[in-house]
Amino acid sequence: MENDPLAILLEQILPDSIDKQDIIRDSLEAIQELANKAAEMIATEPGLLDLYQWLAKTKQYPLLVRGGLPVRDPLRLIDLANQAALVLVRHGQYDEVAKLSNAISKNPLLIYDAARLYQLGRPSDLENLAKRHNIAPWVLTYIAAMTVSALARGLTTLLETRGTSLEPIGNKCPVCGAQLIEKRCPICGKEWI
Ligand SMILES: [Zn+2]
Repeated sequence: MENDPLAILLEQILPDSIDKQDIIRDSLEAIQELANKAAEMIATEPGLLDLYQWLAKTKQYPLLVRGGLPVRDPLRLIDLANQAALVLVRHGQYDEVAKLSNAISKNPLLIYDAARLYQLGRPSDLENLAKRHNIAPWVLTYIAAMTVSALARGLTTLLETRGTSLEPIGNKCPVCGAQLIEKRCPICGKEWI
């Protein structure tokens, strides 16, 4: 888990003013649980996994770009986001998380929008979204990264369970499209050889 390349992404997202290393360690622990929750969510949506399996079979990579985020009801992402936010609360970021919760209650699609922007690699749009909702950009980016990572990990595990074969696209992950770090994907955590 120490070598999880998600740590490298989080290192870039978290500001220097807070205790990064403790949050990263906790986040890497939390991501396993979040991924299990995401997998349950994906597996219970009728036909959803079939769609990604078909995309994989026809090599329509990256799956998360071609198929979109693996969730039918965008509001279900709020559960994942709240669980990720608990990591920040445990490290004293009460005020920031309160702002986030407040923004979600006013705009329930916020997490879906943030996750989509993160996944599509549009950091400045994500930053603007955070500012419009009075949330620190790093907080929304962190939540989006954790949410997308959980979905990607959940999806990758389910596809593997079904024996779906996936191949890296050059140096990019076939599931998320992320640039691999030493052959591993920072988003879905998978090692592509
Ligand atoms: Zn990936």
